[in-house]
Order: sequence, then C-alpha cells, then structure tokens
Amino acid sequence: MIWDRSVETLERSRLQSLQRTRLSWTLHWARERVPFYAERLPDLDRWERHPQELLQELPFTIKSDLRDRYPLGFLAVPRQEVRRFHASSGTRGKPTVVAYTEHDLTMWAEVVARSLAAAGMEPGQVLQNAYGYGLFTGGLGLHQGAERLGVAVIPASGGQTERQVQLITDLGPDGLACTPSYALYIAETMQAMGIAPQDTSLKTGIFGAEPWSDGMRERLEAALGIQAVDIYGLSEITGPGVAMECVEGKAGLHVFEDFFYVEVIDPRTLQPVGPGEVGELVLTTLSKEAMPMIRYRTGDLVSANPEPCVCGRTMTRISRVHGRSDDMLIVRGVNVFPSEIERVILSHPGASGQYQLVWEGHPSRPDLVVEMEAVPGTAAPEGLREHLHAQLGVHLTIRVVEAGAVPRSQGKAVRVVNRMTE
Ligand SMILES: [Zn+2]
Repeated sequence: MIWDRSVETLERSRLQSLQRTRLSWTLHWARERVPFYAERLPDLDRWERHPQELLQELPFTIKSDLRDRYPLGFLAVPRQEVRRFHASSGTRGKPTVVAYTEHDLTMWAEVVARSLAAAGMEPGQVLQNAYGYGLFTGGLGLHQGAERLGVAVIPASGGQTERQVQLITDLGPDGLACTPSYALYIAETMQAMGIAPQDTSLKTGIFGAEPWSDGMRERLEAALGIQAVDIYGLSEITGPGVAMECVEGKAGLHVFEDFFYVEVIDPRTLQPVGPGEVGELVLTTLSKEAMPMIRYRTGDLVSANPEPCVCGRTMTRISRVHGRSDDMLIVRGVNVFPSEIERVILSHPGASGQYQLVWEGHPSRPDLVVEMEAVPGTAAPEGLREHLHAQLGVHLTIRVVEAGAVPRSQGKAVRVVNRMTE
C-alpha cells in the first residue's frame, strides 16, 4: 500500500521543483536563526534560483558540530515552541540532543506512516513495537507513525523477551518492529517456550537501527514466517522513517525526498559519487523547523539508485547501510565491515545467524575470530574460512560455539568484542 500516493509517486521533475522551494526555505531559515549557519552560509539572495547548485558549495555539518554546541546550540525556534526532545545514547562519546516542533512531529509521523505502509501494514492492523521507548527515537517514533496510519500499537519497548512472546500470542499483532538481532532472539525464545514462531499472527517485520544482510533477512523470514524489511533513520535528521524499504522490491530503501535531500559523497575527496557507487550518505532536511540540518554527514556508507521501483514509488533508493565509516575493521591491513562478514557467513546454510567477531591475541598482531552458532543438527560449516578469504580478502578464524554461547541482544547487537591480551 502507498500511504501518500500523490507525493510518493510524484514525477521526478515535480519532486525536484518541490525540493527547490523547500531547500530555499530551509537555507534562509537556518541562516537567520542558527548562529552556526549564520556564520557559515553565504548571502543567499543572489542564489535564489538555484538552491541545489548552491547546496553543493556549502560546508558540511558533522556530528562533532552538534556535540560542540551541546545541548541546544542548533535550536532554531524559541524554547516554548519545542514539543519533544530526544537524545543519542552517547555510546560514541558525548550524546547529542535533538528537538522537534509540533510541525516536525507531524512530518515525522507522516514518514513513519508511509514506512509502515511500504512494509505492508494497513490501517486496522496491530504493531508490536519492541524498540526502546525513551530518549531513543525508535520507540516513540514508530509509535506515533503507526497511530497516524491507523494501526494499533503494543508499546512493548525492548527487553523482557518472554513477555514479548506472551504479547504476540495473546494480542496477535500483525507486525513486529525492533532490531533484526532482537527479532532473531524473540524467535529463539518462542521456540524455547514451545511455540512455533512461524505459526504466530506476525506477517511483517520492520527491522533497523543496526546493519543487517539479506542472509539475515532470509533467516528472519523463515524463522518467523514474515516479510522482513529495512527501516533507516537517525535522530539528527528526525529518527526512523528517513528511508524505508518497500516489501514489493526489497532492493534498497526509498528516501522520503520531499522532506530529506540526498547526496552521496566520497568521504575522502568530499565530491559526489555517481549512482550505484558506494559513498557516505549526506542529508539535508527540507521542512524541519526546530533543528534544520544542512549537508549532515551521516557516516553511513550507501549507494543511491534513482531508477523507478516495481512498487511505483519514484523516490530515490539507497542501498542497505554497508556500515558506518567508524565501524570499519582493519584485519592485517585489509579493510572490512562487520556487515560484509555477516553477509558471507550467512550465505552458509549451516549458520544460525548468531555470531560475534572477537579480537584475540596480542595487540601487536591481533586475530579476528568469528564465533558463531550453527543451525542445530547441521555439521560445522565447511569451507567458510576459504570463502571469507575469497570474498573479502581477509583471513579469519572460524570457531563454532555451542547453541546459546553467543550473547543475545535485546537492542542493538554488539558485533565486535575485544579479548586481546597484553
Ligand atoms: Zn519500491
């Protein structure tokens, strides 16, 4: 189902003209109201006719710009006009705080409603939302968008996995929203409780907030008897719902370009890369009042595909996130993302989907070990080490561990751990 057909299938020339108007508004709004942008943006009036060309010459905004102006240095409206705050977890350093006006919350609900519809959900259905509620945008973000679509929400939040299973069996939700690693754990917990996970009411999985592979999709779809799709977002831009995979295509995530302007750049040269080429995703908000963001470097590596999609949406698709530039591992001089390792591991039918990457040995010459669980009743995966080397050029040690040995995640999975010894 397409929630807002008039916009989501808009002819691209008309979409671009809408973007032009909104970009011009955003640039003026930010320059007039946010000191950071007042200092950095040029006099805009002489550029009035070509804001997209102008954009390419403007400086980027990066995470540390937000941290340096913590908490509210980017606020563009009086405090009384703010209706909600959210904050990042701060796991990568000082947290960042974001703010929303009533208009911003309406826009956010709208893109989440579109996202859930793209996943296959319909008004009258029920969504179990197992994203954490609180400062994290996943819980409340999915919640308000589901209500806008006309979907009833079970606000389960994260954790208490047996209770999650109980709610699924008792209330019969159609959809489940959480991280893919947590969905896998919920399926395992069901099995352990004697409930067949593929026989529940669930039809749709809306999974995101961590990188995942098509191999993980296959496992989740088979384990839970669902269609599983990827949702993308980040609090600096709004939260989940910036981009969404459609269930018809399952080949990239449509960016809601009437609200977010997409660029993909080479992170070294900072120049744009072409369609299909991997680079860093850069987003500019087009209607945000409380905290407009101009050329925000997300750190997420994707490629863009502007071709039309089987679903009928005309909005540009981005690939699944390959990884964040700061997630990159260097294994004996070879750069590799955990998500690429996952893709190769899960191409093996004997891999259960529970795995962790462990640094071992001495820091001067560390080894990366894949600790993984095999599907019960299957032999240890043969030839995986050779396959990883052929695909990614890295030598990893494969260690099959007993079922349950890999720590289960109830939110964002910890994929890489350090057990090096001095
Ligand atoms: Zn599509």
